Amino acid sequence: MKIHDVLIVGAGLAGMRAALAAPPMLDVAILSKVHPVRSHSVAAQGGINAALGENDSWEAHAFDTAKGGLYLGDQDAIEAMCREAPGEILELERMGVIFSRDERGRIAQRPFGGAGFPRTCYAADRTGHAILHAMYEQILKRHIAVYEEWYVTSLIVEDGVCRGVVAWDVLHGGLHAIGAKAVILATGGSGRVFLTSTNAVINTGDGMALAYRIGAPLEDMEFVQFHPTTLKNTGILITEGARGEGGYLLNTLGERFMKDYAPEQMELATRSTVSLAIGKEILEGRGVDGCVLLDLRHLGRQRIMERLPQIRELAIEFAGVDPIESPIPVRPGAHYQMGGVRTDQWGETEVPGLYAAGECACVSVHGANRLGGNSLLETIVFGRRAGQRASEYVRQVPPRAVSDGTLKTEEARIARLIMNPGPERAWQIRDELGKTLSQNLGIFRTKQSMTHALDCVQALKKRAARVMLQDHGKIFNSDLIHALELDSLLDIAETIAAGGIAREESRGAHYRSDFPNRDDGKWLKHTVAYQTSEGPRLDYAPVTITHFQPK
Ligand SMILES: Cc1cc2nc3c(=O)[nH]c(=O)nc-3n(C[C@H](O)[C@H](O)[C@H](O)COP(=O)(O)OP(=O)(O)OC[C@H]3O[C@@H](n4cnc5c(N)ncnc54)[C@H](O)[C@@H]3O)c2cc1C
Repeated sequence: MKIHDVLIVGAGLAGMRAALAAPPMLDVAILSKVHPVRSHSVAAQGGINAALGENDSWEAHAFDTAKGGLYLGDQDAIEAMCREAPGEILELERMGVIFSRDERGRIAQRPFGGAGFPRTCYAADRTGHAILHAMYEQILKRHIAVYEEWYVTSLIVEDGVCRGVVAWDVLHGGLHAIGAKAVILATGGSGRVFLTSTNAVINTGDGMALAYRIGAPLEDMEFVQFHPTTLKNTGILITEGARGEGGYLLNTLGERFMKDYAPEQMELATRSTVSLAIGKEILEGRGVDGCVLLDLRHLGRQRIMERLPQIRELAIEFAGVDPIESPIPVRPGAHYQMGGVRTDQWGETEVPGLYAAGECACVSVHGANRLGGNSLLETIVFGRRAGQRASEYVRQVPPRAVSDGTLKTEEARIARLIMNPGPERAWQIRDELGKTLSQNLGIFRTKQSMTHALDCVQALKKRAARVMLQDHGKIFNSDLIHALELDSLLDIAETIAAGGIAREESRGAHYRSDFPNRDDGKWLKHTVAYQTSEGPRLDYAPVTITHFQPK
């Protein structure tokens, strides 16, 4: 069996940055269920934050992040991220990322929601694409091994230490155990637990579920960000950069309704504020066919073509609307998981040998609401930190053979799944799960709606045990992968619902109509969920406050 020093699961920005942080003499490998540049990071549009401006500072960035997250973020981690951001942007530029420039030829920065300063660096509206491709070139240049189209089904744990993974070779079929002295999870988000989501179909929370199943807790899972502006019907993201460039939101009366919700910041209030405002306008009958309108017309053709070309293409292609001539119909949609595998500032989880970084981790820097542009930054800073820390750790780990116990267990599980008589189909359960969560755990939540959702999820779990496959083959069996992903989605959905029911307050993205106020006295604490056979067991952990007292 192959034993690597460091094995990274996930080839998005967090995974690639972790790989590049390891010293070249280590045996580092990346493993990904899709080709690396198809990771969801490629879809990031608006940009990445760093206090580069002469009148900006990392302290101001840290303050905005802590405040925007309603003080639920750990401020030591927030400070580390904001302090290291400018250096990371310059490093990305050295790797070859071509950022958009201002008139003076410097890296341009656009204003984003909840930020006191224009500090979002971007490459038009294709920032993730630009960074991911530049970084992949570095991976190729360094000859870092990549297991392309391999799907991890389980983590190997021996004597309480993570020692590798069991993975399915999607292209050829077959399970393999791959040993590693350290494993870094960089598996991205879980947005597909919701029906309408900006996330790629591969964002099924696998890494979170893998960690959860071996006893690493998940933190703050009830905090799911709903992006205010996703395209009507498809839920495709319309970047916050569109409002950063000056776009307005209008209701059916043609009013810029944000004046009633956030008169100073208007459309650039935090995402949770804007999403709630849009939800309220639609609920109270001032929407337009279940949406509101995002008006870019006043920006003019030239600005739209230069700064938002992809947004224009998407609006024309998927909504039949050219934003140069007409406003775009938009509504909030699930976008980002603020919670994830609980880690410290260096990506260490509670299981020795297991690290996590990027969207699958909860460091936590976003608290109850993530600021736009801070997620790409998180992947870069904490991807690097996890890579560094794991590299230090593996030097103290003696080489050791890994038993094939987990491989045998997984082989039996997959064999059962392939032969399962059914009659359930994974796509049907996935569809029902998405509908249930979108209807009951969306921007407005109550005890009743969330309890209903939890009951449904538990019933769906029982049905998932009877999923049958129509494809019994080995080669590129996407039927099998979908069934495995369904199990991840169900585990994740359960933690979102359980955490949400318990948290009797409203904070950031978690808005409860039955508890509309924030309650720092009782709830300024992290939710920590452990897996048990009866479902999630919830515990709580303190929030680290350094300089910014909750207001
Ligand atoms: C449409 C869209 C636009 C966005 N725009 C912005 C933006 O402008 N600015 C910003 O800051 N943030 C943005 N975000 C958020 C940000 O892009 C993501 O949070 C971030 O890119 C996640 O990166 P990651 O490296 O953690 O994971 P990802 O890029 O999602 O990569 C996950 C990797 O894990 C692999 N993987 C997962 N499960 C398995 C498994 N079981 N086995 C093997 N491999 C597995 C996948 O193959 C993939 O390689 C956006 C998100 C979306 C959806």
